[in-house]
Amino acid sequence: MSGPVAPEDTAAVDATATAAAPALELGDSRTADVGGSTVRRALPRRERRTVGAWCFLDHFGPQDAGVGIGPHPHIGLQTVTWLVEGEVLHRDSLGSEQPIRPGQLNLMTAAHGVAHAEETPTTYTGRTHGVQLWVALPDATRHGPPAFAHHAELPRAGIGAAVATVLLGTFAGERSPARADTPLVGAEIALGGGEVDLPLDPAFEHALVVLEGELTLEGAVVEPGRLAYLRPGREHLRAGAADPVRALLVGGEPFAGTPLMWWNFVARTRDEVDAATREWNAGSPRFGGVASPLARIPAPLPPW
Ligand code: MN
Repeated sequence: MSGPVAPEDTAAVDATATAAAPALELGDSRTADVGGSTVRRALPRRERRTVGAWCFLDHFGPQDAGVGIGPHPHIGLQTVTWLVEGEVLHRDSLGSEQPIRPGQLNLMTAAHGVAHAEETPTTYTGRTHGVQLWVALPDATRHGPPAFAHHAELPRAGIGAAVATVLLGTFAGERSPARADTPLVGAEIALGGGEVDLPLDPAFEHALVVLEGELTLEGAVVEPGRLAYLRPGREHLRAGAADPVRALLVGGEPFAGTPLMWWNFVARTRDEVDAATREWNAGSPRFGGVASPLARIPAPLPPW
């Protein structure tokens, strides 16, 4: 379910191109293949590489097939896994073996290096639908030890006709217990219909993707496969729906620095990516081993 990031996701962007953009920008996700499944990749895009520290957003399914991604490494990021439908078993080089179900959060902090595998258990035969996101870690923690946390219960906030489940950070007065190393927010918004005024942190930039249904934001209809982006400075966002809709809101203080993303690595320099590539492919203890029946995925050589 993770990555990889390809060159077309991360091509250089002209920073001045977005300077005069409107308050609500609508962009398209691109279609990517991850382990044989087609996903909608909302981040990174050429025109929008990060939203706060959020640097990667894949929306997969709903699909009849499960997922199966063999052992692969990460550095410099947190993986955030959230399911709408399905069941996925996470195994990592820290010894974690954790199933995740809808409404729960798996949060793996790669930092200096970790490896994991994700697969749908053979006992699960239903549909699979969810998102995986990455959060770029700041310099203060990206070289630190890896960690894994499963949050079976998350706080929920009622906002009029909507219910928000807070994955990371604070939203509508409710604070997630999950680790966040930079000021950010991640929340799932479920709206049965009608209109709602979503409270936003004006210090944050924000983005919304729709997981199910159609959401109207200031006259614009947003559906799965699109990304609605909001620059900092907003305290509210009016959202409406005729029918039930489920969306994911992410946001944060604009990320300090430019993450260099290649494959499953988030770094700052090519030397860091080169070292991670070399060490994973050599079986270095930096990443450890994952007890998975799936095949280990070798790192492709960077394009430079
Ligand atoms: Mn991964």
